[in-house]
Amino acid sequence: KTVPVSDDIKHCNVGTIGHIDHGKTTLTAAITKVLEEEGYSRFVSYEEIDRAPEEKARGVTINATHVQYRTKMRHYAHTDCPGHSDYIKNMISGASQMDGAIVVVAATDGQMPQTREHLLLAKQIGIKNIVVFINKVDLVDEDVVDLVEIEMRELLNDFGYDGIVTPIIRGSAKLALQGDNSEMGKKSIISLMKAIDEHIPTPTRDTTSPFILPIDDAFTVPGRGTVVIGTLERGVIKKNDEAELLGFNVKKSTSVADIQIFKKSVPSAEAGENLGVLVRGVRLQAVERGMLLCARGSMDISNCFESEIYFLTKSEGGRSKPVTSKYIQQFFSKTWNILCRVDVKEGEMIMPGEHARVIITLLRGMVLLEGQSFTIRENNQTVATGIVAKILP
Ligand code: GDP
Ligand code: MG
Repeated sequence: KTVPVSDDIKHCNVGTIGHIDHGKTTLTAAITKVLEEEGYSRFVSYEEIDRAPEEKARGVTINATHVQYRTKMRHYAHTDCPGHSDYIKNMISGASQMDGAIVVVAATDGQMPQTREHLLLAKQIGIKNIVVFINKVDLVDEDVVDLVEIEMRELLNDFGYDGIVTPIIRGSAKLALQGDNSEMGKKSIISLMKAIDEHIPTPTRDTTSPFILPIDDAFTVPGRGTVVIGTLERGVIKKNDEAELLGFNVKKSTSVADIQIFKKSVPSAEAGENLGVLVRGVRLQAVERGMLLCARGSMDISNCFESEIYFLTKSEGGRSKPVTSKYIQQFFSKTWNILCRVDVKEGEMIMPGEHARVIITLLRGMVLLEGQSFTIRENNQTVATGIVAKILP
């Protein structure tokens, strides 16, 4: 089921989140229906979406459906999950990296525990933009919807979103899905898509921040020196830039002697490009896969951070026993791994299948970015997946 995508149209990843039974799947189906009528999409029925396939993401089993559609402006991949725990796993493992989320809240209930939990996670994993859909407005009076909206704006503020500018659309996904053309039906979906188009920015490559090159490999060019290889994650790198090699407790100043792309020397390169960098005064033995080459002074190494983490159940390949403090295992992120210690809140323990906020200490200092995802493995089996939430001093 692919909607044709032309090369020049922008892409954006979104997803429905919110409390069970508030209408996330109905809304997902309604969006595809209305956009099909507009001539942009293909209708995907409720039943097709709800029959979510199982995915293996980093060893975690997640039930999730990805639906595609487009508006005049953009192409979208939309994730809908059947159950609460699927949302938790999907969000914490970074399985479907949402650029923006559609929070569905039923006017009949208002915000509920899972609305809050998903919103909190959305914030913690770095989803910057939210659009709210107050659903089931066909079942309540307008002043009830007004109250739900006021509550939602307060909740958004409480979780660090902008409760004033966040678009809140009211409608009935069910009516829209049934072909109702009224304000509550089709028109509410059109307003929602307009709000998503306008409020959730298209992700762009960051070419303005100081450069970061995660090192995948390194080799020696006889007579010249050490070349590190990787894909520039961020920024622009130029010949003679002052740089720093960071990771595994190492902080070594160097500079960019040459940049090569496809074996040709170039004066500069931009985020997204695969390149080799000849670094001055660095021995090959000093470089390790997993280190970063960064603009000098722009990044630092750290070995302690708060994390949002999910422990897999036994049937997902995880542990059978709970985790308590001083849990020591191998930590995997990007291209590197290192020994780590997990500490939980005093007196608490985490059961397999649960998620929690924990403090993780790495054996050596690495460059860590908030939002970076990782896994923890025991005997080569993934037992946990998580996200770096807050670097600690
Ligand atoms: P999810 O668990 O959030 O995916 O919720 P569903 O989309 O499965 O919807 C849960 C129930 O609410 C279903 O019985 C839907 O038919 C019903 N429902 C969804 N949207 C609306 C709506 O706008 N109005 C009414 N009256 N019922 C709705
Ligand atoms: Mg559902």
